[in-house]
Amino acid sequence: MRKRKTKPYATQDPALPQGLTGWIDRNQRHFRRALLAWFRRHARDLPWRRTRDPYRIWLSEIMLQQTRVGTVVPYYRRFLKAFPTVKALAAAPLDRVLKLWEGLGYYSRARNLHRAAQAIAGERGDLFPRSAAEWQHLPGVGRYTAAAIASIAFGERAAVLDGNVRRVLIRLFALDRPPAAPRTTRLLWAMAEALVPLSRPGDFNQAMMELGARVCTPRNPHCGLCPVRGLCEARKSGRQNDLPLRPAKKLLPHYHIVAAAIRKRGRYLLGRRRPDEMLGGLWEFPGGKVEKGETHEQALRREIREEMGIEIAVERHVASVRHAYSHFAITLHVYLCTLVAGRPTPRHHTALAWVAPSQFDRYAFPGADRKFLHLL
Ligand code: SF4
Repeated sequence: MRKRKTKPYATQDPALPQGLTGWIDRNQRHFRRALLAWFRRHARDLPWRRTRDPYRIWLSEIMLQQTRVGTVVPYYRRFLKAFPTVKALAAAPLDRVLKLWEGLGYYSRARNLHRAAQAIAGERGDLFPRSAAEWQHLPGVGRYTAAAIASIAFGERAAVLDGNVRRVLIRLFALDRPPAAPRTTRLLWAMAEALVPLSRPGDFNQAMMELGARVCTPRNPHCGLCPVRGLCEARKSGRQNDLPLRPAKKLLPHYHIVAAAIRKRGRYLLGRRRPDEMLGGLWEFPGGKVEKGETHEQALRREIREEMGIEIAVERHVASVRHAYSHFAITLHVYLCTLVAGRPTPRHHTALAWVAPSQFDRYAFPGADRKFLHLL
C-alpha cells in the first residue's frame, strides 16, 4: 500500500512577506526531512536527550541559557544527583541551590528555578505544566524556554528561536537586516513557527539548534557538511560569512572595585547579596566601586561604613583580580582589614556571617571572589 502523504503546513502568518511564504510552502518538507535525517545521524549524545522527563528537560534548558553545552553537562549531573525530583528541589534551601550553581553564572536562573519548583510542588501538586503557554507563567521561563520544553517533553508544535536558530534562519533566507532589531525578531519567530512540523517538533527544534551550534557556526560555517546547503540563500550567494550583519563592537565599561577581607580571630566577614540585585543570594566580601578622586583605602572605609556601620583599618593589599561579566568588566582590589569600631549590621546585605576559610566551600561566591579565596 502506498504511504499517504501528509499535506505540508500552509504558512499564513501576516508577519511573513510573500516571498518567504512561497519559499517555505515549496521547501518545508524537503528542509525538515534533510534536517531530521542529519540530526538522527549526528546528534550529540547528551544526558538530557535521553529523557522526556519535563523536570530534566526544564533544568537543561535553564542551564543552557547563555552557557555552553560542555560547561553545563557536569553541573546538570551534580544538580540532579542532589535534587532528583522537583519536590527535592522545592524543599532545598536556596543557599544549597546557589552553591550547586556556583560558577555557572546568571544566578537569577537558579533563584527562578527554585521559585518555580516551589510553585509546581506546592500549588500544582507536583503537576508540570504541559503547554508552552502554561510554562510561561513560571518564573524564569520565557517564550523560547517554554516552547523548547513543551515541544521536547510533550510534543507540542511550538517553535524555538535562540541565537543558533536565528543565525541559521538569517543565512537560510539571506536576510540583510539588523539581527537584533524587533522587526527582525518578529519575522524570525514567524519563520521558525512556519517551519516547525506537527510531528516530532521537539526533534526538529533540537536539530535546528544543533545545526547552528555545530555546522552553521558564527564564523566559518561548515557549509560542505550542512544537510540543507542546497536550500541556503546565503551559501548560494557566497555570503555565509557576512551574515548575520554584525553590529559595531562596543567597548565594555571597566570598573575598579575594592573589597575588604575583614579578619577577626581567623574568620572573615561575609555579606549575602540582596535577592533583587545582580548575583543575588551569593556571599561576598563587602566593598564597592572606587569613586573619582578616592584612594582604594578611602573607598574601602567609606563603603564598609555605609554597608555595615563599622570602622576598619586597612592592613595590606592581598590581590587584584580581573573579571568580565556580560555587560562590563571589573578589577577587584582586595585588602586585608581589621575591625576598629562598631558592630557590623547588614544595611545593604540580607545577612552577615563570620566564616573561617575552612568553611568557604559551604558558601556560594561570585566568580571574582572565588579567584582570591585561596590567598586567605
Ligand atoms: S549552507 Fe552554510 S550558511 Fe547555509 S545553513 Fe548550512 S551551514 Fe549555514
